[in-house]
Amino acid sequence: MSLSEIKARVDLAVKNANRPPVQLIAVSKVQPDERVADVLAQGHRVFGENRVQEAQGKWPAFKERFDGVTLHLIGPLQTNKVKPALDLFDAIHTLDRPKLARKLAAEIQARGQAPELFIQVNTGEEPQKAGVLPADVDAFVQSCQTEFDLPIAGLMTIPPVSEEPSLHFALLRKMARRNGLGGLSMGMSGDFESAIALGDTHIRVGSAIFGERVPGSLAGTQAR
Ligand SMILES: *Cc1c(COP(=O)(O)O)cnc(C)c1O
Repeated sequence: MSLSEIKARVDLAVKNANRPPVQLIAVSKVQPDERVADVLAQGHRVFGENRVQEAQGKWPAFKERFDGVTLHLIGPLQTNKVKPALDLFDAIHTLDRPKLARKLAAEIQARGQAPELFIQVNTGEEPQKAGVLPADVDAFVQSCQTEFDLPIAGLMTIPPVSEEPSLHFALLRKMARRNGLGGLSMGMSGDFESAIALGDTHIRVGSAIFGERVPGSLAGTQAR
């Protein structure tokens, strides 16, 4: 599918749900540079990557060539990568533990500038998946806001592969609402329409825009 087709589907879903526009994050992890350049040439400027190192390898050059690029980190962040992550990314969707919150807070204070921050929630309570457990979300949001003074934009989830995603979207929305958070980062290629119907504000769409990720690649396997 092409970028314009996906944008048309997003617009329709937004209209049907009577929602404000959502951010379409084009997830470019593991994609060949030509495909990414093609989407940039079509005027899209909001991209997602799941590895700091991979993003460091390709985005500085793209940012030279194209103005106004916004980058979202949607994969796990190690505390020793916080500095390079803040150098490169405008948004981080994977804040999920106090140690990372503390490190981000210190670095944000030193820079006087914060990225858009989402707390990742492991709504499926999957042992192999990152994210705060649903029972711990309220306390973690509180501590990020009061103890670390971090501006939290919203919550993010990656639903389990084998479950109905809308149940997870609805759960995430409920948790965001009771914490007074407006941002919801949840829909992906296969389910963004139902995510938008359930209040999504940021969708992360990879394969539907770029085509399947190159098989055999090691990166990019966090999601499904
Ligand atoms: C890869 C990835 C996506 C995009 O997945 P698609 O199914 O290709 O749209 C979205 N979110 C996260 C966290 C990812 O790692």
